[in-house]
Amino acid sequence: MRRRARHGARLPAQRRGPGPREALHRDGHRGGATPGRGPRAQQEGGGAGSRGAGTDRTSSRIRGNVRRGGVGRTQGAVLPSAAGAGWCRIIQRSGAFEGRTYVSQLPELEVLRKDLERDVVGKRVKEVLVHAAKLGSRHVSESGFVKALAGQRISAVSRRGVHLLFELEEGHALVVRLGASGALSRETASEKAGPHTRLIATFTTGGSLHYVDPGEGGELAVLPMAEIATLPAVSSAGIDPLAETFTWRAFGEELVRRGGPLKRLLVDPTFVVGLGDLYSDEILWAAGLSGRRPAASLSSQEMRRLYRALLEVLHDAVKQRTADGLPPVEEEDFEESEQGDWLKVWARETQPCLRCRQPIHHDEIVEGLHAYQCRNCQT
Ligand SMILES: [Zn+2]
Repeated sequence: MRRRARHGARLPAQRRGPGPREALHRDGHRGGATPGRGPRAQQEGGGAGSRGAGTDRTSSRIRGNVRRGGVGRTQGAVLPSAAGAGWCRIIQRSGAFEGRTYVSQLPELEVLRKDLERDVVGKRVKEVLVHAAKLGSRHVSESGFVKALAGQRISAVSRRGVHLLFELEEGHALVVRLGASGALSRETASEKAGPHTRLIATFTTGGSLHYVDPGEGGELAVLPMAEIATLPAVSSAGIDPLAETFTWRAFGEELVRRGGPLKRLLVDPTFVVGLGDLYSDEILWAAGLSGRRPAASLSSQEMRRLYRALLEVLHDAVKQRTADGLPPVEEEDFEESEQGDWLKVWARETQPCLRCRQPIHHDEIVEGLHAYQCRNCQT
């Protein structure tokens, strides 16, 4: 059986030098990870010059996956979860973080959208197979959904918050909200459905699009474009920093109006869509602010710093994910990858802060919310 080059929104792997074993479990490694082999570990333990070598190896490994699978990076896709659309699947360690949690990850969703845009725009759907997919309330039957999609030409792939929209003819769109563990992949037309395949759409020009989700939470619907704004997750969505222009003043005013600790605000999809634990931690580190800080206590200079960090971290992540490819969904591919070496603070517990060299901590900073941060330079 050929190896699929499906990519998903798994969290970046721990790539650090010999460190606490529990950290490996947190990221879902099943004990098979090789500590210290990543570029980050080499950089810190091996001195100058090792970064480039490690990066090259990462790239070739990702390209290698593509070759083995016979498919391009664009075939991989990950999808968001129900509650505000989770992206990266994070396997947390014990205690309050036991089990798997899913968080919104806007950059991965945007990279996926661009990949799909290149791949399927202009194609006409030939046949549609649906199996055990959760269909939007508009569809009373699978046959109604199939009828609405079959024969339609895809004119664009856009995004509304965490929903991917395959724009169709006559003002309709196939709306896909990926389940937390969902993935979209481009396959050959003859590729058979697996046990968790929810949707197969073949194209008249060959090839097909598969939506696979071993979990629950994803949803599909064909809707008039005008109705999409009324979907609850869309109508309640906050700022989309990758799609909207907004000033630091407007951002700051909303921050103060809402109040509360910064960490809680940043992961609230009604304030900013698609930020999970990972990117909220990266943004706070870049801004030099603690996630515990009450929004109302920020000076205007600090608000500007947070605003800049928000935009820079997300745009940089899109660039990184575009260059590296989305993290693989398959466990074995994930363990081989060195995704996430470019992150500054996330999953770097006990490592020296890249700014002040003090150790990074992973604490519960607000009730129910943990964060990786530097206690010294994030104030
Ligand atoms: Zn620091």
